[in-house]
Amino acid sequence: IWNHCITSLQSELSPEQFNTWIRPLQLDSQALANEISLLAPNQFIKSWVSDKFMSRIVELVAEAGATRETKVVLGVAANSLARHRRVIPEPDFKPMAVAPVVSNHSAPTSSDMVRADRDVDVEGGLKHQHRLNTQFTFQRFVEGKSNQLGLAAARQIAENPGGAYNPLFIYGGVGLGKTHLMHAVGNALIEKNPNAKVLYLHSERFVADMVKALQLNAINDFKRYYRSLDALLIDDIQFFAGKERSQEEFFHTFNALLEGGQQIILTCDRYPREIDGLEERLKSRFGWGLTVAVEPPELETRVAILMKKATQQHVDLPHDAAFFIAQRIRSNVRELEGALKRVIANANFTGRPIDVELVRESLKDLLALQDKQVSIDNIQRVVAEYYKIKVSDLHSKRRSRSVARPRQVAMSLAKELTNHSLPEIGEAFGGRDHTTVLHACRKIKSLQEESADIREDTKNLHRLLTT
Ligand code: ADP
Ligand code: MG
Repeated sequence: IWNHCITSLQSELSPEQFNTWIRPLQLDSQALANEISLLAPNQFIKSWVSDKFMSRIVELVAEAGATRETKVVLGVAANSLARHRRVIPEPDFKPMAVAPVVSNHSAPTSSDMVRADRDVDVEGGLKHQHRLNTQFTFQRFVEGKSNQLGLAAARQIAENPGGAYNPLFIYGGVGLGKTHLMHAVGNALIEKNPNAKVLYLHSERFVADMVKALQLNAINDFKRYYRSLDALLIDDIQFFAGKERSQEEFFHTFNALLEGGQQIILTCDRYPREIDGLEERLKSRFGWGLTVAVEPPELETRVAILMKKATQQHVDLPHDAAFFIAQRIRSNVRELEGALKRVIANANFTGRPIDVELVRESLKDLLALQDKQVSIDNIQRVVAEYYKIKVSDLHSKRRSRSVARPRQVAMSLAKELTNHSLPEIGEAFGGRDHTTVLHACRKIKSLQEESADIREDTKNLHRLLTT
């Protein structure tokens, strides 16, 4: 019966909703007869499911032919984390003298630590890499349907770090506020306790620091340092993909922090299950806490974000002008900010007040590009026709020059002419990695300089697509 419900819910809900709320539910094997007992991994999921989905679940259970007496109950699983959380034994070495981290919003990197400890010369300039951005606060974050869950969870964590939502895993496309939310938690933790050791870093930095520590024979210091944190925020963990040694190290760090009740927040551009080249055990562990999606903001939220950003910059943005921008820039918040910046710059430059007319002028190029409404589909069709290959060749794994080059051309056009992110473009080309798309864009760019043929081709295609 439950399987039937799952199948129906999967088709009724968005993948994000399904993954966040329904997938984590487990059937309780110790349920009474006449009872369908579902276990949520934590209270947060339980109360959300019971608010939003319970009535539908009850209907589906009935549809699936349950008897009238069958009851659906929802509980919270005896959390695996609770079992795992224990006091870390006092280390038998003297804790390293790490300067109080982040008391001034800047965390020493492990490289700093290595430098202090071993007196070796590590490249300077790393010191500020891990700073929390003080602009990224809860106060500056605009709530909307699209980010409601992520925001609620982040607020909870700021109140009660290391609690039920550990790790918090935030995923979603670029420019949707993942990094902002993560910093907001960090900033709030430090505001509450200026001595809190909060470390923010990009996953690539984690990898680089680890490699450096290995080279310097300082991997134990590296570990100790990470394990001394109160909260570890790692951004864009899709970059761990394929880096086995780092995953291994991260896995141990991760476990140690969870066991110590220290908070972990991770972000990623996709759902953990969908990260290729990531170890299974990591994927499953990421799901121990709470996984939430951030989605592109709806119109009202986009308007609210613009108004807020304008106010922060002491700029007078009339509502109709904000509305005009929000209606046209739909992809993500970063683009929205970019558009607003242009408008403000133009207003300053011309000395005119901001109104719809000024907005229209300022965004003319941007909007002209958008009005063409070039879609990836469209690009693929036109490119395939141009090079006399099949659209399916663009999706295929074939690597012969005759299809690989057109495929790269199509990818780079998709990047240039649409608002899609690299991962989305990769997805549209037979599920390729975003790095492949990036490589294609660079390749075509350099070929345009070297080869008149490519220059000619891309110019023609550009014209075909945009006029
Ligand atoms: P991501 O990490 O998801 O790519 P960021 O967190 O870097 O996105 O957000 C991109 C920009 O958009 C940042 O300047 C951030 O402050 C802003 N932003 C995103 N979402 C919101 C929001 N809900 N309210 C206010 N600003 C936002
Ligand atoms: Mg980010």
